[in-house]
Amino acid sequence: MFCGVCHSDLHTARNEWDVWPTVYPCVPGHEIVGRVTKVGAGVREFKEGDLAAVGCMVDSCRTCASCKEGLEQYCDTNGTLFTYNSADPQGTAPVTYGGYSDRIVVKEHFVLRVPPGLDPAATAPLLCAGITLYSPLRHWGAGPGKKVGIVGLGGLGHMGVKFAHAFGAHTVLFTTSASKIEDGKRLGADEVVLSKDQDQMAKHMRSFDLIVNTVAASHNLDPFIALLKRDGALVLVGAPEHPHPSPTIFQLLFGRRSLAGSGIGGIPETQEMLDFCAANNITSDIELIPIQKINEAYERMLRGDVKYRFVIDMATLAQ
Ligand SMILES: [Zn+2]
Ligand SMILES: [Zn+2]
Repeated sequence: MFCGVCHSDLHTARNEWDVWPTVYPCVPGHEIVGRVTKVGAGVREFKEGDLAAVGCMVDSCRTCASCKEGLEQYCDTNGTLFTYNSADPQGTAPVTYGGYSDRIVVKEHFVLRVPPGLDPAATAPLLCAGITLYSPLRHWGAGPGKKVGIVGLGGLGHMGVKFAHAFGAHTVLFTTSASKIEDGKRLGADEVVLSKDQDQMAKHMRSFDLIVNTVAASHNLDPFIALLKRDGALVLVGAPEHPHPSPTIFQLLFGRRSLAGSGIGGIPETQEMLDFCAANNITSDIELIPIQKINEAYERMLRGDVKYRFVIDMATLAQ
């Protein structure tokens, strides 16, 4: 029914990742929501007509320690099978094909339930952008009494602001653009800091428990590490094409601070997130587009001209 448009789709469609070359024809899309049309004989949790979702992965080894803990995205045997452009072990095609499609076949374990009450189109981006922020905020304990920063207000960042606020943390948005102050507050930020303004940054020295950085361009991390309290963590979830310059190690040593990364979330946690979203009335802010506008949407994403996620109405594929 619907597929969110992630930056990974754009990189893959254009074959921009040296480490992960695109096999054409390719079908991107890993923020998928639709109705179950058919189930196999062994399927227990889903039936025809159910509203269901598929995210960034469609299989893993299921037997290693990480998989057994429900952290299939960190499969210890490198067995995580991504939703598109991953070699297809079933051999039905050279690589897996994603959600820019009218159907997808997925093992039951990797299918999520969409709880009633959630708008299906605005739910789609939760499957990548949403869980990418939900998981680190949960893992590093964002909640009441904690001061949490979100760097960048895009598809990822706007979900981070919503979740940090919903978890009860004092939520601070960092942005380089004054035009985003009002929107940041509307989305749940208690404060918005212009990260290029050194006076504004100085007021927050050594005060953050956690900062989640969504920026996917190479930049200096030191100004953010300096804002962490003792034992605070800066967690990177954006994947820049070129690496960040190395941070100043002394800032990490004197303060026992951590620099960490986090990738999407496991299947149980993704389900937990969807249930949390239904209970707390949280979805992504989206702009619905027909598939015919996908190339225009990619260009607008590159300009930052989207609030905050494009979602494709897959019914338009038949037009
Ligand atoms: Zn994605
Ligand atoms: Zn595994």
